[in-house]
Amino acid sequence: MPGLSPLQHMYLEHMGITRWVQRTAPAGPDPGSLPDRPAAVTVVGRTIADDPEWDRLQAEVAACTRCELHRGRTHTVFGAGDRKAGWMIIGEAPGAEEDRRGEPFVGRAGQLLNAMLEAMGLDRQQVFIANILKCRPPNNRDPVAGEVAACESHLQQQIKMIQPSLILVLGRIAAQNLLKVDSPLGRMRGKSWAWNGIPVVVTYHPAYLLRNPADKRKTWQDLQLALSLYPGSP
Ligand code: SF4
Repeated sequence: MPGLSPLQHMYLEHMGITRWVQRTAPAGPDPGSLPDRPAAVTVVGRTIADDPEWDRLQAEVAACTRCELHRGRTHTVFGAGDRKAGWMIIGEAPGAEEDRRGEPFVGRAGQLLNAMLEAMGLDRQQVFIANILKCRPPNNRDPVAGEVAACESHLQQQIKMIQPSLILVLGRIAAQNLLKVDSPLGRMRGKSWAWNGIPVVVTYHPAYLLRNPADKRKTWQDLQLALSLYPGSP
């Protein structure tokens, strides 16, 4: 994979992309190739100053009883990362491990998300990761409309406070609820969307990719699209 740093090779291998390329397209163009994009992947860590509004929102979520999901939760999962990040990553809802730890995207899906970020030259500390819902739906079922409506203002406030330059949405449920569309994921990915003027790119959820590793190649294309849309990208 010409043009990639040894570190990017390593992360793409973690995503399983190198193996996919070697098996299916040994002589063709490299679908996982990543041009050097130092401007696009550079996210300057901004100082996390005390922010009473942010603390108020965090406390509000921790005490929230707006929907029935509060009854079964161990922890709310507010989100994690740099509250002034250029990149915001939005998934669907906490799973069992996230509920237990109060952190988004931990476990195997979280490790794959880390690899996806690292392949773009980012790490978890440089982005902010959140979900549509802050509490775990029982048995990891899809969120219902009432739950999404009840929780919506939490995420909206987070986005407005963070003011990311780009939002990467993981999975159909998160994309449909953020963008207010009912399209299948296949029609949402591969193009640029917007949320209140902020560019949005949709890709597969890492948990889906663990079950369907062949789609990691498409995910890599989505990540390249996101990189190309990030301000300062060459
Ligand atoms: S899912 Fe959202 S709205 Fe429902 S109780 Fe949890 S924080 Fe509140």
